[in-house]
Amino acid sequence: MENIKILITEDEIQKRIKELVAAMNEYYGNEEVHVICALKGAVIFAADLVRSLKMPVKMEFIRLSSYGGSKTSSGKVNAVDIALPDLNNKNVLIVEDIVDTGLTAKFLLDFMALNFKTKSTKFCALLDKKIFRKTDIEPDYYGFEIDDKFVIGYGLDYEGYYRNLRYIGYI
Ligand code: 5GP
Repeated sequence: MENIKILITEDEIQKRIKELVAAMNEYYGNEEVHVICALKGAVIFAADLVRSLKMPVKMEFIRLSSYGGSKTSSGKVNAVDIALPDLNNKNVLIVEDIVDTGLTAKFLLDFMALNFKTKSTKFCALLDKKIFRKTDIEPDYYGFEIDDKFVIGYGLDYEGYYRNLRYIGYI
């Protein structure tokens, strides 16, 4: 493997997830939540998150593309696969790997608002790269704020690789 430097350790990630889950368990109480996992990057994060949620949970998956393998955002979000059930009057929690420009997050939130009258819509991202924000999107929940590094691991890829790392690193 190339020379990967660790940015956030496995322990730090798991500790932070416990804090996020505690906040969510407190906020939702016993109300059902529909967790929408944005593929592929959020799959590991969402899997860890949902397993500690205490309320009734349903999981849905959507797939969007914006990067196409390079390290810079194309600035355009494509809906590749969005097949969602009726989310009217439901609590929706969108789970993303990282908010960078915020275009993906905005696309998802606009899509929800356009198609459903949800009971609540919240956005959770593991990582928040605030400096590159091109929209006024702020995640309701986020794990860590990071600077301008291109990160990999814990679901995040570079050309499809490194999603399986237990930590977040950069090359
Ligand atoms: P945005 O639309 O906010 O610019 O970008 C969101 C998407 O870009 C994320 O879901 C993720 O797939 C990708 N992305 C942004 N920054 C990084 C990064 O540092 N590493 C990786 N692997 N993907 C990133």
